[in-house]
Amino acid sequence: MTRSPAFGALLPRLDVPPPGPASRALADRLRAVESRNVTHLSEHWPIFWEEAAGSNVRDADGNVYVDLSAGFGVALLGHSHPAVVAAVTEQARRLVHGMGDVHPPEIRVRLLERLCALAPWPSARAVLASTGSEAVEIALKTAQLATGKPGVLAFESGYHGLTLGSLAVTERADFRRPFARRVYAGVTFVPFPVASRASGPSPLETDRRTCDKALGVVREALRLGAPNGDPIGAVLVEPVQGRAGARMAPSGFMAGLSELAREAGVLVIADEVLTGMGRCGAVLASERVGLEPDLVCVGKALGGGLPISACIGAAEVMDAWPRSHGEALHTSTFLGHPLACAAALVALDRLDSERVLERADSIGKRLLDGLSERLSTLRGVADVRGVGLLLGIELGEGRGSGVGMEQSRSFARSSANGAGARVALGALPRGVIVLPAGDVGQVVELTPAVTLTDEQIDYSVDALAAAVEELS
Ligand code: PMP
Repeated sequence: MTRSPAFGALLPRLDVPPPGPASRALADRLRAVESRNVTHLSEHWPIFWEEAAGSNVRDADGNVYVDLSAGFGVALLGHSHPAVVAAVTEQARRLVHGMGDVHPPEIRVRLLERLCALAPWPSARAVLASTGSEAVEIALKTAQLATGKPGVLAFESGYHGLTLGSLAVTERADFRRPFARRVYAGVTFVPFPVASRASGPSPLETDRRTCDKALGVVREALRLGAPNGDPIGAVLVEPVQGRAGARMAPSGFMAGLSELAREAGVLVIADEVLTGMGRCGAVLASERVGLEPDLVCVGKALGGGLPISACIGAAEVMDAWPRSHGEALHTSTFLGHPLACAAALVALDRLDSERVLERADSIGKRLLDGLSERLSTLRGVADVRGVGLLLGIELGEGRGSGVGMEQSRSFARSSANGAGARVALGALPRGVIVLPAGDVGQVVELTPAVTLTDEQIDYSVDALAAAVEELS
């Protein structure tokens, strides 16, 4: 007798077209009390989540979805992993809240020991925080303390968060424009080179030229200093650009970037908030792409669903921070929150015991192969790409046509109503949750969990193909 799959491994089952009446009623209540900037509310969007497990989400109307976003990439182990729930429950019985930087909870020591043991340096230290943006800000502060140079080199289309400090290094104009005068001006943005696609005369040769050109721009930018005259002390980069739409640099670029930074006395900060903790088939994606960071920011999957992040660095770099004599230069109320530490310890344990790295690779490959086979011949699909469980479907004319963005601009108008957003909208009534990405919303981004089953993959590929076909 074959057992039917449990919630977590189910295919979608929609009782009512989403958003159903319960979601709509919640949208009306939300509209009245939440700042209108936060949640996009329309006739077709959003659904309100009630329950989730593995790769399934159940909404307030009882509809079951396959979640290919893993909730912004957080639930890499699957939603509500039983071991995370058990560890958090157990921890909550003993100690819910510690005392930040003053009287630390014991579990914080254990988590820091584990995190530092994973780091790529012989000796490492870390600062815990709650969000990805904060981890980025801690890295930027560390780099300034260590080098004495406040300027930063960052990449176009990169995403590092929206708090004022992290907004300064997030390039997208739509996020920055209203706050331009509050945002630190010592950041030089340079183009992120994009690896060529399978087609074209000689991708290797093209990639080599793209790489050399981009490194030349970096070299010159480091020499010139930041636009406000500050010397540059840090290069901040995502090993694979996430919110820009799963964009990968040509091979050799990240190694070249690390070398240029070293020569210039500049620290390399890897923003691995999305790519790290196994998502790209390695604990840190930096090792996969040849980036040699001095500081690494992690978040999202680190907490197995609870909000926790960290900036980890080589000990000699982190020791640029002065010793605390009772007043920390950087801290926060919830630093090293016991419940989040308990969940993070589970996430770290499961990296090995649930073979997260291997599964990210094998499930990611199956999904990528399925998407490539089914979607890359469709009109309007420019590229299907990714590494591990960070995948992107770029929409636009000119399939396999290189950079893709330029072609896509005519296809898409803005990040909110670009073709990727329209595919996300079309996938929802088919029971599949995906998110748009890219500067103009031209990419469908997939960051699923390692719990995704073969049946869920096959179903999702068909559903996404149908949603793409609907565009034309
Ligand atoms: N860096 C990267 C690479 C991210 O993807 C994100 C979030 N999408 C952040 C930083 C910011 O994290 P948070 O939203 O938790 O502040």
